[in-house]
Amino acid sequence: MPKLIVKPSSLKELWKITPALPYKRKYLSGGTDLVNISNAGADDSDCWLDVSALTELWGIKETKSSIFIGAAVKISEIENSVTARRWLPALIAAIPHFASPSLRNMATLGGNAANASPCADGVCALISERASVWLELKGKKRKIPLTGLFLGPKKTALKKDELITGFEIPKWKHTAAYQKLGPRSYFGISKAAVAISADIKAGVAAKVSIALASVGPVIVYAAKTSAFLSGKSLVADVISEAAELVKTEVSPITDTRSEADYRREMCGVLVSRALQGLT
Ligand SMILES: Cc1cc2nc3c(=O)[nH]c(=O)nc-3n(C[C@H](O)[C@H](O)[C@H](O)COP(=O)(O)OP(=O)(O)OC[C@H]3O[C@@H](n4cnc5c(N)ncnc54)[C@H](O)[C@@H]3O)c2cc1C
Repeated sequence: MPKLIVKPSSLKELWKITPALPYKRKYLSGGTDLVNISNAGADDSDCWLDVSALTELWGIKETKSSIFIGAAVKISEIENSVTARRWLPALIAAIPHFASPSLRNMATLGGNAANASPCADGVCALISERASVWLELKGKKRKIPLTGLFLGPKKTALKKDELITGFEIPKWKHTAAYQKLGPRSYFGISKAAVAISADIKAGVAAKVSIALASVGPVIVYAAKTSAFLSGKSLVADVISEAAELVKTEVSPITDTRSEADYRREMCGVLVSRALQGLT
């Protein structure tokens, strides 16, 4: 852990103090990833900037057309939010699979995205929800599709000192499911996971949006399978075809948690289970 940890209370203060801080600096949010990395001796920064007091990064806000979730919002806050429960079914479905209740009281959505893990459950659900991410650097704001933030495992498109301020999710009528396969049912990082959002009317799916975790270098948006399902009745044959198609869209690896072939096969099974849960 670095000797210097600073905690600005506004974005204005953050941009004012940053230039004078040691060059090797990182943001600290809930610390559930960063403190672990530091304890493992893999963080060489000389300063951490604690973002938890930046009020601009707090809260879940509803506008006419979208929901905004601040980057410093804890996962447990989302779990208990009436607004999130009404508008973000994929994210809500993912949360019980996210670590443990105590960890969800610390972990934030901003940290989940900035950490750029291909296993990130929050990001997987948000991509299925069609989220964008708001970024800020020295007072300059920009918004990009969340899929555009990730360049590879642990690699993002963030510029030096660029801060994630929040996530914007369009309001759209949909139902959703989240399926996660891990060493245990809960409290573990996945071997594979899938989030599916869709607008279902009389058994016919529209605007299908499928994201998968732990089966590629970044969270995978399954564009072909999503397009294939849109406009179709979710009958057994269609679900089987989608389960085959999704296997062509992932590129899993073999690592300590699982084997590539097994992961690919399970993507089909998880998509099939998730679709059956939607009908
Ligand atoms: C036991 C355990 C179980 C876990 N289980 C899961 C799980 O099931 N699913 C899952 O998805 N994750 C899991 N995680 C990982 C972790 O909890 C999440 O990724 C969490 O959301 C990280 O958020 P944080 O606020 O703790 O981030 P931090 O640890 O504070 O930060 C993580 C990274 O993001 C950067 N950062 C933080 N906030 C910002 C910001 N606003 N702008 C730019 N950069 C920022 C930091 O510099 C750091 O590099 C688990 C972790 C542990 C220790």
